Amino acid sequence: MERTKAIRNEIMCCMNCGDCRIAFRTAIERFKVCPIREVHPSAFEPFFSRGKMNLAKGLLRGDLKPSKELADIFYQCTSCGSCREVCHQSHNPYIQNNVCKYLDHIKVWEAVRADLVDAGYAPLPRHDEITKWMEKEHNPYMEKHEDRIKWLEGKKLPEKADVVFFMGCTEPYRIPEILKAIVKILEKAGVEFTILHPDEYCCGSVGFRVGMRKIAEELAKHNFEAIKKSGAKTVMTHCAGCYRTLKEDYKDLFGELPYEVVHASAFILDLIKSGKLKLTKPIEKTVTYHDPCHLGRHTGLYEAPRDILRSIPGLNLVEMERHHQHAWCCGAGGGVKSQYPELANKIAEDRIEEAERTGAKILTTMCPFCGRNFKDAIEARKTFIDFKDILELVIESIE
Ligand code: SF4
Ligand code: SF4
Repeated sequence: MERTKAIRNEIMCCMNCGDCRIAFRTAIERFKVCPIREVHPSAFEPFFSRGKMNLAKGLLRGDLKPSKELADIFYQCTSCGSCREVCHQSHNPYIQNNVCKYLDHIKVWEAVRADLVDAGYAPLPRHDEITKWMEKEHNPYMEKHEDRIKWLEGKKLPEKADVVFFMGCTEPYRIPEILKAIVKILEKAGVEFTILHPDEYCCGSVGFRVGMRKIAEELAKHNFEAIKKSGAKTVMTHCAGCYRTLKEDYKDLFGELPYEVVHASAFILDLIKSGKLKLTKPIEKTVTYHDPCHLGRHTGLYEAPRDILRSIPGLNLVEMERHHQHAWCCGAGGGVKSQYPELANKIAEDRIEEAERTGAKILTTMCPFCGRNFKDAIEARKTFIDFKDILELVIESIE
C-alpha cells in the first residue's frame, strides 16, 4: 500500500466528525453530502467518506488487509468531491479554486484504488475490460482508433493551428452531434483550429480515476508529447473529464504545461464577449444548469457556462437547490457508471427530480458523461424535462 502510506498524515487527520455524511448550513438546516450513501441499499458507514477514511486507516495500521471486499467498497464512489468540499480538514484560507491543499479525499480514494490494483484485488471486471481497450485502441468504448474522426465525414482541417481541439472519446464515438456543434460555433466565430488525429489518444481519465496508473500515464505521456509537437498554444476541450485530466493530472505528471488548457465554456464565452459570436435568436425557456463535478469542484469552473446561458436572449436561468460547490453529482463518475450502473442511474434520477422541482423545461450542462447519464435517467423517469447540452442551445441561438 505504498501510495496510501505516502499520504498517511493526510488520512490520519480525519477526525471522524461525520460532516461528510450530513452537513450543516445553519444550526437547523442540514444537507446530504455523499450521493453513494444516499442511494446505496445499505447506506452503511463504508459507503461515505468517513467510513472509507477509517478503512484506509485500518489498512495503514495493518488491522485490515487488502481484499476483493475492500475493493468493492472503495470503487463505490463517484469521486465527486462533495465530501472534500464540506470537510474542514481540507479547507484553509490559502486554498484556491477548491483544489485541496491538505486532506484531499479524491487523492486518498485514488491512492487506495491504485494500491489495490498493485496488490491484485482490482481492477474490477468492467474497469479491466475498459482499460484493456484503452491500451489496444486508445479509447474505453471498444471502438477502432481510426473511427475517432468518422464524425468529420471527410471534412479537412488545417495541419497546424494555435488552437487544438481535444475531442475526447465519448463524443466522437457516442455523441458526434456535439462535436459538429463545436465546429459550427468555431467556424461561425472565425476561429482557426485543428485536431491531433491520429495522435489524439484517450486522455487517460478513466485510468487515473480507477487506479490503473500505468496505462493512464502512458496515454498522458503520448498526448502531452503530441500536443507539444503540434506547437499549439491552446488546447480546448468540451469534455469535463478530459478538461480535469489535461489540466490537473497532466500538470501533476509533467509540471507546468507549455500550453494553456481551456474548457469550451470559457473559450466560447470569450468569443461572445469579444463580439465574434452573436447570440441573437431568443430561446424563451426556463433552463437549469448542472455543475459537472470535474468542472466545478475539481477545477473551480462555475460561472462561464452560466454566463453563456445568461447571454442567450429570452432564456430564464434558474438554480437547483444544490448548485455550485454543493451541486449533486450526476452519478456517472469515478468508474461507477460502468461497474455499478444501478447506483449511477439512481443518483441521476435524484438529480432529475431536483431539476423538475425548479419548473425548468430544460436541464443543461457541459459534460458528455453527465449528459448521457441524465438522458438514461430521463428515459427511466418518463419526465417532462428535456436534456440539452449548452452547445445545442448556443447553436439554436445563432442559427
Ligand atoms: S473526512 Fe472530514 S468531514 Fe468526514 S469524518 Fe473525516 S474530518 Fe469529518
Ligand atoms: S467523493 Fe463523492 S461519492 Fe465519493 S465518498 Fe466523497 S461524497 Fe461520496
